[in-house]
Amino acid sequence: MESKDSVDSIADRIRDVPDFPKKGILFKDITPVLSDIDTLRASVKEMAAPFMDLEIDVVVGIESRGFIFGAPIADVLNCSFVPVRKPGKLPWKTESVSYELEYGTDALEIHEDAITEGQNVLIVDDLLATGGTAEATCKLVSKLGGNIKGLSLLIELEGLNGRKRLNQYNVHSLVQY
Ligand code: AMP
Repeated sequence: MESKDSVDSIADRIRDVPDFPKKGILFKDITPVLSDIDTLRASVKEMAAPFMDLEIDVVVGIESRGFIFGAPIADVLNCSFVPVRKPGKLPWKTESVSYELEYGTDALEIHEDAITEGQNVLIVDDLLATGGTAEATCKLVSKLGGNIKGLSLLIELEGLNGRKRLNQYNVHSLVQY
């Protein structure tokens, strides 16, 4: 069971920054969550909790704030951690998927040997907005034969309907706006 008190204390530390990185965007700044060790620990614990009994083999963290939560969640779930990164950042052979942005396209990459066929995967990021980033990550994991057991996000912007694009998956978020 989620602890309402700990989720409330996490929500209290998420800071709204208007017009960042550009006009019209209300940026959800998680650095105050990170700067308090009790809130950081609670975030990791609550994000991992729904997946404790799902025999997760690999946590995939999405660059860059997904790394911050993903690695300690892998520790809690006693499994490995794999980064998904922007193009050109990973040193070894990669699989790549491109996805649509509001203007233009972007891409994400994963090491081709990062996941083996049939491994149980949990995908982690800080925030779900339109779901484009998460959907591209699901495609990467599927390309490598990973079995997506769920996605865990600290924040979900419900108005942007990201969850709709991910409706075949078990999506869990802690704080919704
Ligand atoms: P999307 O692909 O639209 O779901 O966007 C999710 C990615 O963009 C995540 O990696 C977030 O870190 C980042 N992001 C999108 N919107 C915001 C926002 N309002 N505040 C903070 N990060 C955001």
